[in-house]
Amino acid sequence: MNNSLTIAKIRGIRIRLHISWLLVLAILTYALATGFFPLRYEFDTVTNWILGASSALLLFVSVFIHELAHSVIAQKKGLGVRSITLFFFGGLANIESDPEKPLVEFKISIGGPLASFGLGLFFYFLYIADLGLYLTPLFDYLSKINFMLAIFNMIPAFPLDGGRVFRSILWAYLDDHKKATKIASNSGKIFGSILIALGIVLFPSGIWFVFMGLFLMFLAETGYKQVLVKFALEKINIKELVSERPLIDPNWTIDEYLKWCRKENVLSAIAKKGDDYFAVELDNLQKIKKKTKDIPPVSSIMKKTKTIDTEKDEPFKLFKEMQNNNIGIMPVIENGDYIGIISTDSFYRLIKVINLQEKLSESFPDIIKPANNNSD
Ligand SMILES: [Zn+2]
Repeated sequence: MNNSLTIAKIRGIRIRLHISWLLVLAILTYALATGFFPLRYEFDTVTNWILGASSALLLFVSVFIHELAHSVIAQKKGLGVRSITLFFFGGLANIESDPEKPLVEFKISIGGPLASFGLGLFFYFLYIADLGLYLTPLFDYLSKINFMLAIFNMIPAFPLDGGRVFRSILWAYLDDHKKATKIASNSGKIFGSILIALGIVLFPSGIWFVFMGLFLMFLAETGYKQVLVKFALEKINIKELVSERPLIDPNWTIDEYLKWCRKENVLSAIAKKGDDYFAVELDNLQKIKKKTKDIPPVSSIMKKTKTIDTEKDEPFKLFKEMQNNNIGIMPVIENGDYIGIISTDSFYRLIKVINLQEKLSESFPDIIKPANNNSD
């Protein structure tokens, strides 16, 4: 997520605050200081606001612990965790790859709600211990909200934790990852629509539910699409993605390069200098300063790039890497020689065709076999 500030690093995981987090912190403090506390206790205004702000902050500490639980289990299962971001709708652990086994997904997904439940119990004991005038209401709120977080997250609506738990059980039972995701994603959409309907009934105070419902429906759909992409890319050979494209001369001027782009009808190219490969993308042209004496060389917009090995690299991993790092084009090497390029567009085109092939084979099951390997 952009617009985030890294505030710490724990176990190699960057802890980030998204700009929208400040907004929700303010709204929450306001709601607690003017709603929750005055309704239950008889404190003065200043106390209500101090309690509101500290509860809101501690709620986010609780959300963070929930995400940390997911992350630590993921790390123990050998999956990399890039970051935990706190934002408007709570927290998000950015785990590098999806679990390959249902049991691993089950453990990672249930870890967060279990942590929330544990925190709920912890704060409940502090609440009944009655430690002091101001601490008791604080722990009252924190125990309630953590129990609520545990319950809400366990609703079997993908991609909420409960939806992932639901998917992992279906996945183990059906032995079909795709089908399990489809069902879990549909339950996510149904729950999303229920939230939206509820929000409309409770309008205007229910507007929050409408946003959450829409957000959940969007996530349920993209989550399913990601799985479709994974399955589509698992079926292909990396060579299907390669387009031929001659290497360009790094000594060209940008003017010469643009003429070449026009002739070849392309927007990007690869240049080689010594043993290193460089990506040349027209988007980088915007960085050129106006009014230099000579036309700058193409090397001024070149960016050093890794190469793709047709023997070693896997399409899905490569696709995620290119997406995550905003890479548009990469050179492909076979037996030590440059054979062409793979661009993110090559992925999108191929995924689209494979999905259409699948739809067609569903419509004509007797005539067309499902789009499997590229053997035919
Ligand atoms: Zn969670």
